[in-house]
Amino acid sequence: MQTKLLAAGVQIAAGPPKLFKKALAKKRSDMTTKVHFDSYGCFTSIIASTIEPYPKEGFGFLGGKTSHKIRYHKSSKDIIIQAAYPLQTAKRKEDKVEFKDLKSFKRTRNLLNCLGFDIIGEYHSHPKENLLKITKDDIDHDIEEIKELKKENLAISFKWMDLIIGINRKRYKTNFGEQSEWIKDKNKIKGTVRDRKFGYKFEITGYLFDINNPKKYDEANLFLPSK
Ligand SMILES: [Zn+2]
Repeated sequence: MQTKLLAAGVQIAAGPPKLFKKALAKKRSDMTTKVHFDSYGCFTSIIASTIEPYPKEGFGFLGGKTSHKIRYHKSSKDIIIQAAYPLQTAKRKEDKVEFKDLKSFKRTRNLLNCLGFDIIGEYHSHPKENLLKITKDDIDHDIEEIKELKKENLAISFKWMDLIIGINRKRYKTNFGEQSEWIKDKNKIKGTVRDRKFGYKFEITGYLFDINNPKKYDEANLFLPSK
């Protein structure tokens, strides 16, 4: 903390008071867009479709809606994810997914609109390598996708989400021990899925891109579905 020297030699803190700092941090977290999973059904589709191709990447689309809320006399918008669909024709590799069949890609993505959902974004996994952050390739793909969706005039959310599923396999010595569980940890969702001697550790991060300025993105505040 910075300090200011007084003439009498007494030092006082020059930074903002603690209470003010707390209020500022709260205001910042209030401004972060909240993203909720509507049900464990849709959440499970994402998890299962990233475990299945492991150690290759999993990929799919997210559909849902925007929920308008009034908090402290201010209106805000949350995103609700209601549908997750894995793209079956994607060519999966350990460090990327290739879309060879663009017609299938567009058909599947656009189908979300036909079924009554806004297109919220996409999800893909980052297996093994502990790479939990969004990459430059991811960002380039997201910017292209936003341009494309706007050109095609599709119903999209006010922000585009790239949901990154960090996944690592663990081997256990016994059939017992760590249990399958999910927790919210700050803005992320973390969890373990255990199947006897194998377990999969997850760290899920959502990146939200501004539809009108796609080069600008920030981390979403993710919430687990309620039981
Ligand atoms: Zn990626």
